[in-house]
Amino acid sequence: MVDSLSVWLVLPLGIALGWYMRGRGSESPQAADGSAATPETLAGMNHLVNDDPDQAVASLLRATELDSHAVELHLTLGVLFRKRGEVDRALRIHEALAERGQLSTDQMERTRFELGQDYLKAGMIDRAEELFEQLSHRGLYATPALEALISVHEQSREWRRAIEASRRLTAVGAQPRQLQIAQYYCELADQAKAAKDAGEAQRLAQRALEEDAGCVRANLILARLQEDAGDARAAIRSLREVPDQDIRFVPEIVEPLLRCSQTAGQIDEFLEFLRDIDDETSTSASVIAQARLMRDNGVNPQSYLAESFTASPSWTLLDQLMQAVDLPTDETMAAALTSLRDALKTASAGRARYRCTSCGLGPGLLFWQCPSCKQWGSVIPADDKLVPAKG
Ligand SMILES: [Zn+2]
Repeated sequence: MVDSLSVWLVLPLGIALGWYMRGRGSESPQAADGSAATPETLAGMNHLVNDDPDQAVASLLRATELDSHAVELHLTLGVLFRKRGEVDRALRIHEALAERGQLSTDQMERTRFELGQDYLKAGMIDRAEELFEQLSHRGLYATPALEALISVHEQSREWRRAIEASRRLTAVGAQPRQLQIAQYYCELADQAKAAKDAGEAQRLAQRALEEDAGCVRANLILARLQEDAGDARAAIRSLREVPDQDIRFVPEIVEPLLRCSQTAGQIDEFLEFLRDIDDETSTSASVIAQARLMRDNGVNPQSYLAESFTASPSWTLLDQLMQAVDLPTDETMAAALTSLRDALKTASAGRARYRCTSCGLGPGLLFWQCPSCKQWGSVIPADDKLVPAKG
């Protein structure tokens, strides 16, 4: 059986068709301006209603005359085909329309914009980019074309071009995109670091901070570069900036801060710094770090962790506590504790470590651009608290 015209097509088609006929005069295919609805257009609609989209497209493309309503109908159908994933049909309609000499400037720009979207969807990135680039310089579609260009450059990881298009977008009146531009500089810094150009990577991370002083990622990159270069004190300074930028990222700095503080002989300052943060966030960062230091010095932090967990229960503290508890000598008790540890490990592994504040995705890794909703800087460390059930 032929794929029936499902609701997605019938409803908008009905609207487009009704609108088209209204524009033409509802009693007959005679237009208000006296011109007749072309037989090809009517035949195209007939094929659509009879569930034969290929014939419908062929009929529409044969239409020799196009008034503004017919152009609108072509565009609407093209977009519908693309949204349904039938990009080849969308492309045929939009390409044929773009070749018409009788379109107004606005209609031609819209057609070319839709064509660009088709190319993008079909994976023909170069052709999409070329069209969006042409449209981005002037006209009604300058803003959406620049937005589309940015998306193209992000997909191709052309960060400098994404920066340039972002600046142009702001210049045509869109909201400033400092946050995104800072992320692009961070991407460039990562590329420079991967190419073993630490100096350039550091310069680019600094550039990211100039764009967006709240860019946590830039300080994390800087700290890593400084630590790799053997400058633990500079790395500590960069890491200490993070809580002021975004207190939710504290869990990301504990490990590197501990490492660098040990190297620089600044453990007391480190603990004091984390204690101050704990007062603000209840992240338990200082407790975890203290327990880690106790372990390094051969002291079991069991009692200390139990006390801290009771005061402020969190998944991380529970996990640490369970690992620190001595196995009882009683075999049954020891087996029970081992099972409990394993169960907790499984539950903890299934828990999302991060959360996207924009779409709610719970990834296991820290992404600077959400893989689902494509927002920059929306993924943050997930709340670690164990909230007691109420009622
Ligand atoms: Zn998201």
